[in-house]
Amino acid sequence: MSKVLVIGAGGVGSVAVHKMAMNSDIFSHITLASRRIVSCEKVAESVLARTGVTIDVAQVDADDVAATIALIEKVQPKLVVNLALPYQDLNIMDACLATKTDYLDTANYEPRDTPKFEYGWQWAYQERFKEAGIMALLGSGFDPGVTSVFASYIKKHLLDTIDTLDILDCNGGDHGQHFATNFNPEINIREVTAPSRHWEGGEWVEGPALSHKQSFDFDQVGPKNMYLMYHEELESLAKFYPEIKRIRFWMTFGDAYLKHLEVLQNVGMTRIDPVIYEGKEIIPLQFLKAVLPEPSSLGSTTKGKTNIGDIATGTKDGVQKTVYVLNICDHEDAYAETGNQAVSYTTGVPAMIGAAMMLTGAWKGKGVFNIEQFDPDPFMDMLNKHGLPWQVKELDAPLAF
Ligand code: NDP
Repeated sequence: MSKVLVIGAGGVGSVAVHKMAMNSDIFSHITLASRRIVSCEKVAESVLARTGVTIDVAQVDADDVAATIALIEKVQPKLVVNLALPYQDLNIMDACLATKTDYLDTANYEPRDTPKFEYGWQWAYQERFKEAGIMALLGSGFDPGVTSVFASYIKKHLLDTIDTLDILDCNGGDHGQHFATNFNPEINIREVTAPSRHWEGGEWVEGPALSHKQSFDFDQVGPKNMYLMYHEELESLAKFYPEIKRIRFWMTFGDAYLKHLEVLQNVGMTRIDPVIYEGKEIIPLQFLKAVLPEPSSLGSTTKGKTNIGDIATGTKDGVQKTVYVLNICDHEDAYAETGNQAVSYTTGVPAMIGAAMMLTGAWKGKGVFNIEQFDPDPFMDMLNKHGLPWQVKELDAPLAF
């Protein structure tokens, strides 16, 4: 019997719960909680219609630690899967500590008033989780998540030493809207507008946001412009794989997306400091989120594929090699299976798999862990079986840039 409590009924939460329901041998009882009960009920209806499984639903404001503790005490789960927003991470970790319950998430903590995402806040829980005899698995989405598991797989099977690692994240999907984000707009825009940062020669190299562009021909998508960005797995990969001399993260953006973003930034709509509007304080970025399409509403119109993977150079048996491990996911297939587009799908499936690793004991420990600290094999095996099959290619040469 493995009871799980999922908090956050957005696109990612919806996919994770559908996939958990499809694996009821591992997830024998699922409770989905969110700020609005209606979000949970919508997912529960779809899960019942698609899988025949009935899940429990609950309302919780995860910013309220006492309320979250009360919910965990009532549900008595073996694991809390946090698929709400990064702002809630520390509060949910506090509730897990108070109830001695294991914890998993897909995005690292970020304070509301500073666009500063780093693992330091959550790594600071290491001793307390250890003492409580519980485990936290951080970053079990696609990136962070699968991209770090790909790095572990490369290190275990494909290269003896990794010299450089490039993570390439391409969303070749078209949702038919002028401007929309594929996951929570507030989090997405904070991430995209942050200065670029990569790891090189033992230090961080910073540059202006979206200032470094390269073109890459993505399999089943075609050539796309991708931009150097900071992404949270760079921090944990640099920590757990100190041998890697350079780690970079690239994400594709279309020209129309960037043009809209530039205008929104120029007029101040991406600001996260409060402004007074008609006598009331509002945060422009939060207002913008309210007028943009909900990411979960994009599923029915999105066509195309995502292609996300790791390109690593290094040596195997003394020979220089470049390897590429990647997954391609089709938006329409993801929607047909779970009612959500591929960006939610590629995050929700690894959240389910990370939870399965913990509940089955394939991955265990006491303390706070990043995903690349565990054996990649059982996770990679489940990716193949649960909708995110991956491929390995050997490239003739390293990236030319
Ligand atoms: P959504 O905005 O679609 O969903 C977030 C959900 O969290 C909503 O259902 C919302 O509630 C709920 N929520 C927000 N605040 C609270 C709160 N205080 N208490 C309880 N519930 C709350 O986002 P996504 O599903 O797209 O993303 C979910 C998470 O996944 C985010 O942290 C995001 O950063 C992360 N992510 C990670 C990726 C990866 O590859 N690692 C990729 C994409 C996303 P309600 O609807 O009830 O109001």
